[in-house]
Amino acid sequence: MQVNSSNTQHAASPVQAYRAGVLHFTADPACEAESYAWFADGMLIVSQGKVLQAGDYAQLKATLAEGVVVQDFRGKLIIPGFIDTHIHYPQTDMIASPAPGLLPWLETYTFPTEREFSDPAHSGAVAHFFIDELLRCGTTTAMVYCTVHPESVEAFFTESAARNLRMVAGKVMMDRNCPEYLRDSAGRGARECEELIRKWHRNGRQLYAITPRFAPTSSHAQLQLAGELALAYPDTYVQTHAAENADEVAWVRSLFPDARSYLDVYYRYGLMRQRAMFAHCIWLDDSDRARMTETDSAVSLCPTSNLFLGSGLFDFGAADRHGLALSLGTDVGGGTSFSMLQTMNEAYKVARMGGSYLPALRMFYLATLGAARSMALEGVIGSFSAGAEADFIVLDLEATPLLARRTSRTGSLEELLFALAMLGDDRSVMATYSAGRQVHLRGQ
Ligand SMILES: [Zn+2]
Repeated sequence: MQVNSSNTQHAASPVQAYRAGVLHFTADPACEAESYAWFADGMLIVSQGKVLQAGDYAQLKATLAEGVVVQDFRGKLIIPGFIDTHIHYPQTDMIASPAPGLLPWLETYTFPTEREFSDPAHSGAVAHFFIDELLRCGTTTAMVYCTVHPESVEAFFTESAARNLRMVAGKVMMDRNCPEYLRDSAGRGARECEELIRKWHRNGRQLYAITPRFAPTSSHAQLQLAGELALAYPDTYVQTHAAENADEVAWVRSLFPDARSYLDVYYRYGLMRQRAMFAHCIWLDDSDRARMTETDSAVSLCPTSNLFLGSGLFDFGAADRHGLALSLGTDVGGGTSFSMLQTMNEAYKVARMGGSYLPALRMFYLATLGAARSMALEGVIGSFSAGAEADFIVLDLEATPLLARRTSRTGSLEELLFALAMLGDDRSVMATYSAGRQVHLRGQ
């Protein structure tokens, strides 16, 4: 009935329907027995860029108005688009750079690469490639670090808006402990940040994140101003790095001797709140974890990066005991893949190393609804609830000979998703849709 009435109201904008296995989450599988909706022969119905309904094909077919063409993806799996909650677009061209640890890696590769983003043309070209790559991997929303240059943010949002994507991004604020050529000042950084908020936050689907790079590269004055912006614009995002590796934690202790812990630095400056996303969070203690939940802050865990840089292993057991809001980040270019499937693969192994077990259903939840909840965007992205933005992907269970062979023998949804997480990558993403429009189709 819902479908028919909508058809009548919006005769000029047709309904689209997609037949496939359809899966989305309604709760965290770690907390609720009933956490997902799964339709083995399902259908997703979309109108005007929004989800009308997801359900069983046989039931929904009868409700479709005459003339609605059903796209046939039988044998494939449709899920909400992946959400990557931590990634650096300027680091696209330096992914897979060798260095013994975070600090030498930053100095040798990251800072010289980021320098080039004072050039708007260069920023635009990299943003274009970066977004192509996200979409090829099925990522429809990401929380993105730009560089210290406002031009890099302009270029990113311009590219994202041109494709009508739901993206979060911000200018890096950084006024000390970095090369002179990448430094703003406390005052200038805050001014540029505020101008970008006014121009881009909630401009179409774009959302702004206040982005002090990490505590060591911001002065007290800069962190103070970042906190004031976070208070003045409460529905913007905050994103930064926290407790990534042991050397960095020791450095923060020497720079901020009055703070109880690394995370406490951010708390003192008012940067812990809803819509604040802290990447890594490996070297936290239980007081830090309690503060994460008290302040409604969220964690982006980045396993490919943590293993690549030797930063440490995220403690899933402690995180779950404290009920932390978790999601997955690729952290390109410290991370080694744009693919959220490959990120799940490494997250699973990190959990095992710490004595925890991460079911595939949980991993797919973290990469969709879990991330949306962490970002206070439940009902907007990350699920097929009625009225949600129609960002979704079509996963090919036979993308490679090995994947085809393995998925043909899986006996349950959990086994199927697990095989996808272990064996899948960009090749598994057949098509990507944003607000109901196809934005990527894999070459056949
Ligand atoms: Zn990072």
